[in-house]
Formats: sequence, C-alpha cells, structure tokens
Amino acid sequence: MLTEARAHAPDSVAVFVLDENLCRPSGAARAAFLAGCLRALDAELDGRLLVVAGDPARVIPELATRLDAVSVHVSADFGPYGAARDQRTEHALSALVRPVPLVRTGSAYAVSPGRLLTKTGGPYRVFTPFRRAWLDYGWHSPAVTGARTLNWVDPSHMPGRVPFDEVAAKLGENSYTAHLPEPGEAAAHQRWADFRDEGDPGNGGLTDYHELRDRPDRDATSRLSPYLKFGCIHPRTLLHDLRHRDDPGSTALRNELAWRDFYADVLHHRPDSARRNFNPKFDAIEYDTGPDADEAFAAWCAGRTGYPIVDAGMRQLAAQSWMHNRLRMIVASFLTKDLHLPWWRGARYFMTRLIDGDLASNQHGWQWTAGCGTDAAPYFRVFNPVTQGERFDPTGDYVRRWVPELRGIHGKAVHRPWKLAAQPDLFARGASYPPPIVDHGEQRDIALARYARL
Ligand code: FAD
Repeated sequence: MLTEARAHAPDSVAVFVLDENLCRPSGAARAAFLAGCLRALDAELDGRLLVVAGDPARVIPELATRLDAVSVHVSADFGPYGAARDQRTEHALSALVRPVPLVRTGSAYAVSPGRLLTKTGGPYRVFTPFRRAWLDYGWHSPAVTGARTLNWVDPSHMPGRVPFDEVAAKLGENSYTAHLPEPGEAAAHQRWADFRDEGDPGNGGLTDYHELRDRPDRDATSRLSPYLKFGCIHPRTLLHDLRHRDDPGSTALRNELAWRDFYADVLHHRPDSARRNFNPKFDAIEYDTGPDADEAFAAWCAGRTGYPIVDAGMRQLAAQSWMHNRLRMIVASFLTKDLHLPWWRGARYFMTRLIDGDLASNQHGWQWTAGCGTDAAPYFRVFNPVTQGERFDPTGDYVRRWVPELRGIHGKAVHRPWKLAAQPDLFARGASYPPPIVDHGEQRDIALARYARL
C-alpha cells in the first residue's frame, strides 16, 4: 500500500479514522490495545499520524477535498462491515466535484479472500483442500517499503484532528487496567523474533510448536494474534521467514496461518455466517433458554462451572483478554454441548473480551466446535472437560495457575476435585470451589440426541 501511495504522490497524510461502529463493539481490551498501537505508529511516523473521528465515508472525502488529494489508499478489508464501509467511502469519493480514486492494495492476509476457488469455480468449504491450494498459490514477499520512505505531512494543525489524550480517553486506554501485551509494530516483530529464534527444544518456541502448541500449561504458542489482528505484523512476514524451513514446528505454524486465511475466505463468501449457522441444517437445533440457561451462562462467563479446565480458561480470558486455543475449543464445546446454549452467545461474549477478537476466526472457531460450521468436524465430537484437562494439562499446573481455590491439590487430581470433596484441607483455605453445575455424561447424551434429531 505504501509503495502504491508513493507512486501516486510524494507527499502523503497518514490517517486513522476512529469509527464508532467499530469502537463500540470492540470491547475494552481491544480498544485499549488499539490506542497503544496508534500511539506507537504515531511515534514511528515522528508524530505525523492524523487521527480523526466519524463515519469514514464522510470524513475521508471531506479530508480529500480539503487536502486536494489525488488518491486515497487503504489495504482491502474483506469483513462484512469493512467491505461495505470502503464501498461507501469509494462511492462518496467518486461523487466529489474532483473525484478521487480509492486504491485498495493488499490485505491483512497472505492470500486475499476470494482469490482461491475450487476446480468448479466455487469457494472452498473444507480446510484441507483450501490449504493445499493456498500452499500451491504461494504469496509475495513482504513489501520492503518502510513507512519512513514516504514524506508524511505534518497534521498537527489540520481541522478535526483528535489529540492523543482524547484518543486514549475515547478508547478507554487509561481505565483498562488488566495486563496487555506491548503494543505496536516493533513489539510485534520482537515477539515474533523471540518465538522464532527460541532454538532449544522444550522452551516453547517454534522448534517444538508442533508438540507443545496444545499444552496451555507450557505457554508454547506465538501469542501473535493481537498483532496480526491490528496489522502490527503481516502474515507474509512470518511466512517469508519460514520459507526455507520444513521442520515440523514451522510446518505447523504455516498450517495455523492457513486457518486464519481460510476463515477470512469463508466469511468473505458467506458474510451471513457471522451471525447464522454456516450449515443451515443446524438451524433446527434446540437450545436451552430461560432463567436456568441464563444462570448457566453466567457461571460459564465467571469461570464457576465446577469443571476446573473450563473455569481456568474463562478466568484466563478475564485476566488476560486472551485464551489458549485448546481452551477456546474446550469452553466452546462446554457451552454448546454441555449447557446447550447457542454458539453465538459464547461468540458474542468472546468478542467483547478477546484482545485478538476477530469476526472470521472467532465466529468460525465457534461454529467448528459447535459442529455447524465448515469442515468435517463431526457434530458428535463432544469434548470431555475432564479428560481434555488430564490430557492437555497433565500436571494440573495450568488449572492451579488460574483457579487459586484448587492450588492445594497436587498433580492431575486437580481435574476431578469432586473426588476430594471429603478432604476440604486440600482446597485453599476459606475459598469455595463450586461442584459441577451439570453432569457431563448426561449432558453429552442430551446433546447427541438433539443433534441426531436434525
Ligand atoms: P498460534 O498458535 O501461535 O498461531 C499463530 C497464528 O495463527 C495465530 O495468531 C492466528 O492468527 C492463527 N491461528 C492459529 N490457530 C487458528 C485457528 N484455529 N483459526 C484461525 N487462525 C488461527 N483467533 C483469533 O485471532 N481471533 C479470534 O477471535 C479467535 N477466536 C476463536 C474462537 C474459538 C472458539 C476458537 C476455537 C478459536 C479462535 N481463534 C481466534 C483461533 C485461535 O484460538 C487463536 O488464533 C490463537 O489461540 C491465538 O494465539 P497465538 O497467536 O498464540 O496462536
């Protein structure tokens, strides 16, 4: 995009529009992280980032007119809202007395949504063939043009400029007190370098990513999702660094980046799947509603279901605005198949909490787990929260980290605390840990019966 902008004109204005339609639903963690990222970008541009507020389809054409702009450059947005917003902006720019083109260059994906089609010309609905086509298609090397190669116009006296203390206030940066990762591009690249170059096996870096990535107790994933979400690092940068690496860790990471592109592609072709079942056959499924269902939902949100691995995941989400992928699957399965609540209730809650909340990955991660989404995830796959905990948190360390009431229980016995109810001395003094709110075996049968009726 920068290369393209430079080809059009030597002087450019770097603009970020605070759009209420995106700020409002984004949740406190993402908003605060965004504020930090904007500040870091402004510093990178020597204080030349112009932040304005309002509807982009109104403020960008106004700005273009005032600055006598020859072109407006964005990287293409493929989400339902972003694509429509850019179309409105393009339309408004073209309706100016001196029309200005909106130039879309690149996207936030290695392979932009809509590029890959099946042999019959349709979109991919299943991941494995998509990944094959994605690998065959390949990707360009990351652009070498740095932001510093453009001549950024000083925006300090431009009308409508929102000063950074107001940006911070609007995004609630100072009122968000939970821990957030260091924002910005430099931090993203540092995080990637640390993960990539963590050479010693067993340390939780790229070398043993394939073996440890499912272990929430080991903190062995890249933690790049917030940076990818906000464009602080591009997937092509990661893929470029992996280009000569065929070790199992690198292959596994490439695979995960393909999932990210896959879900964006699916959402691009089926924007309705942000709110509705990808597979309409599941529209007839019976969900629980009413006060008991609401109470169960509240217990799930608060991390008080009585299933330690579920509660640990939900409490990690509350504390860090992030949750390990294995836990996302476990808690999503619990909500949909043990509590019989609709996936979109959980997805909506995730979107208000996650620092990496991303419509495509989130809604389709949920639908995959609920069984109504893409791919061959069979509906009858119901995660057992106890055996999942014993398998992926074999020492119980992850649960003890997030559920302090259970810190007195050693080893993997922590995954079945009800077996130790007769020994209250093992539970943290004065703290109560709830008994399971449902019986997993019974709820599994109910879920399977409901799914079978479809
Ligand atoms: P790593 O394991 O280091 O993976 C590297 C990158 O690959 C990630 O940053 C992410 O961009 C991508 N990736 C990894 N796994 C997946 C996946 N299953 N689907 C899509 N992309 C993936 N990811 C989000 O970025 N935002 C979300 O809102 C989101 N919601 C999810 C909800 C559910 C119910 C599930 C099951 C998964 C969700 N994921 C989401 C996918 C995944 O859990 C996160 O991307 C991952 O946990 C981020 O941590 P990481 O960066 O350490 O991942």
